[in-house]
Amino acid sequence: MNYKVAVIPGDGIGPEIIAEARKVLDKTGEKYGHTFEYQELLMGGCSIDAYGEPLTDETLEKARASDSVLLGAVGGDVGKSGWYELPPDKRPEAGLLKIRKGLGLYANIRPAVLFDELSGACPLKEDITNGGFDFVVMRELTGGLYFGERKTIEENGVLKAIDTLTYDENEIRRIAKWGFDVAMKRNKRVCSVDKANVLDSSRLWRKVVKEVSEEYPEVELTDMLVDNCAMQIVRDPKQFDVILTENMFGDILSDEASMVTGSIGMLSSASLGSTKLGLYEPSHGSAPDIAGQDKANPLATILSAAMMLRYSFDLGKEADAIEDAVKQVLKEGYRTVDIMDNGKTLVGTKQMGDLVTAHIK
Ligand code: NAD
Repeated sequence: MNYKVAVIPGDGIGPEIIAEARKVLDKTGEKYGHTFEYQELLMGGCSIDAYGEPLTDETLEKARASDSVLLGAVGGDVGKSGWYELPPDKRPEAGLLKIRKGLGLYANIRPAVLFDELSGACPLKEDITNGGFDFVVMRELTGGLYFGERKTIEENGVLKAIDTLTYDENEIRRIAKWGFDVAMKRNKRVCSVDKANVLDSSRLWRKVVKEVSEEYPEVELTDMLVDNCAMQIVRDPKQFDVILTENMFGDILSDEASMVTGSIGMLSSASLGSTKLGLYEPSHGSAPDIAGQDKANPLATILSAAMMLRYSFDLGKEADAIEDAVKQVLKEGYRTVDIMDNGKTLVGTKQMGDLVTAHIK
């Protein structure tokens, strides 16, 4: 098959890490009989320099016309770059909001994978992390408390702030379906996280998720209260496969989950909507402090490309091949500077990309 991939290298280390992900994708395509046709697009600071805005409507159209989008990172050094003297809606990161909205992306997946080889970077005790762990946090992205009505009023001389948390059943149903679809491609377990002992929105969440689960008899569904989930992630992260949750709970739990994996250079992510088109990107930023120095860890971007194969193109075997290659390279002791440890071999961005490419089986 031929897949049209819109590639947005962005700023800082973006172009360096995207170049390595492309090498890995090309080798995977060669081995498995696919071609990836790339269209490079500008977004972020480089688009401001070229067109005066962080994401033009034409660029967004081109991204929408692709099969999927692979993004590096955008933004510069806030203190040094002139981009941050512009109004907020003209700054590099405004491009991110515009593309997520423009592509109708409402589901975010953040994997929390602790590779056994990197367990030293994990702040949890060894008996908890032995053998590593591998789960994803699936977060609703466009509803709930962050998008509800809000205001601050004064009542009898006292300031009062009001935020509203609303979800309708359709918003819950569509993210729940993604949660179960993703579980079907993993270990077939969904843990739906809410606060149903207090919140009405959580009670509706629980009801709708249960209804959707009936369409997926192979997937085991459990419910967990969010406060308990926050504890369980540090007590026994191995118990999870897919954590499915609403926007604010997902915001907090996905950051907690990233922290227990150790390194920012390893964290991939995906945002999905109603079609197969997704936006795949590392969770880290453009790291201007190390840009252009061949120091950036390209693995988060390479693992994001693997997610693109799995979730947008249904190429599970090919995604496994990339993830296995990453594991093998780590097992052989190669490390970029951010994950470097005693007795390991230090490599740069390009060499890490070459090693993963060479290990695609
Ligand atoms: P950052 O994630 O870019 O960097 C934080 C620290 O982690 C830095 O020390 C950096 O060198 C290191 N780091 C990050 N990625 C790395 C990698 N792949 N390999 C090795 N080390 C890595 O966060 P920041 O410094 O707060 O932000 C820098 C710029 O990135 C800002 O302009 C910010 O707005 C932007 N940003 C963009 C995105 C995005 O594009 N999605 C996300 C976060 C931040």
